[in-house]
Amino acid sequence: NTLAAQYISKPQKQLCETVLKYFDRQYSEELGEQWWNARDVLLNPLSWQYGVLLNRFSDLTNLKQCLAELGYTNLLQQTHPESHSQTADIPLQCFIHPDPVRIPTQSHHTGWLKQYYLLNAASLLPVLALNVQEGENVLDLCAAPGGKSLAILQTATPGLLHCNEVDQHRHDWLLKTLESYVPPSLRHLLSVTLQDGRSIGTMQPGAYDKVLVDAPCSNDRSWLYTPDTHRGEMWLKERTQLPLLQKELLCSALAAVRPGGIVVYSTCTMSRAENQSVVEEVLASYPGVELQELEQQFIDSLSDHFCFAHLHPSVGQLVIPQKGKTWGPMYVSQLKKIY
Ligand code: SAM
Repeated sequence: NTLAAQYISKPQKQLCETVLKYFDRQYSEELGEQWWNARDVLLNPLSWQYGVLLNRFSDLTNLKQCLAELGYTNLLQQTHPESHSQTADIPLQCFIHPDPVRIPTQSHHTGWLKQYYLLNAASLLPVLALNVQEGENVLDLCAAPGGKSLAILQTATPGLLHCNEVDQHRHDWLLKTLESYVPPSLRHLLSVTLQDGRSIGTMQPGAYDKVLVDAPCSNDRSWLYTPDTHRGEMWLKERTQLPLLQKELLCSALAAVRPGGIVVYSTCTMSRAENQSVVEEVLASYPGVELQELEQQFIDSLSDHFCFAHLHPSVGQLVIPQKGKTWGPMYVSQLKKIY
């Protein structure tokens, strides 16, 4: 029952100067001063914080107390209890620490459920924005390795959770995640598929109450640490193709959701072309869809921990890493299908 939290002391990862130069140019123009603060965090992996998402289906005896003794606090409970924001009644529990410490990951044992999943706490934002209710039919269009599918199951018990992934290796990883955290008695609620998410909207129009598009994107954190320059340059070229794929995935999600249903679009990049521009272009081309603002109370309740960027244009929300609040990058936008 003893749990140790350790500072990461591994040697620094290898920084890719080509990617950094590119980010400096693009993000200083798009985010101004906010980029230089985020940059300080991104360039110092030893300062990165890790969230501990508890698995409500496992035996949590002593775990919360151990975390409290180590200095962890619950991300959602400590936020303004008087507010009626959408975080008030959900059972999801994510523990965070003010320092860049992490507890060890748990290994997979057949027949045993893991107690926690380590993640960037800002990844919970799209899941909270999805606000799944008991019994709803939910599609996680780009699901591997399964962190957000798992988080969805911590917020409510859907009638169906369809987790999809296009890549075979990542699909297998997704299956393993679900097996490690979801009890056999709930597995009938899950459907896991290996498909191109762009075709699901046409195949299953209007079938879901909620759809999450956690899109493939230029992952700012990992791209900065591309091991070789050649790969970095290739990624930067591929980057120009991503907005088209993202728009197609978002359109597929809008086709798959029922009228009145919600689609949440998220990425872990700060790039305007992959965030606001994708959403704006889809809104302009897809009739009967409205942009929803996230509740101000909800944003306020998370602002003690997450630094929300000032976006131009102001479409969706972007969490950017800052000193002491190193969560993100995470962009999230909520769309409602009217008809
Ligand atoms: N939601 C995941 C989580 O929280 O663990 C992370 C998803 S990751 C940002 C994006 C995923 O989309 C990758 O696993 C990638 O293989 C997958 N992907 C890329 N193109 C896709 C497509 N056309 N259809 C479905 N998934 C796709």
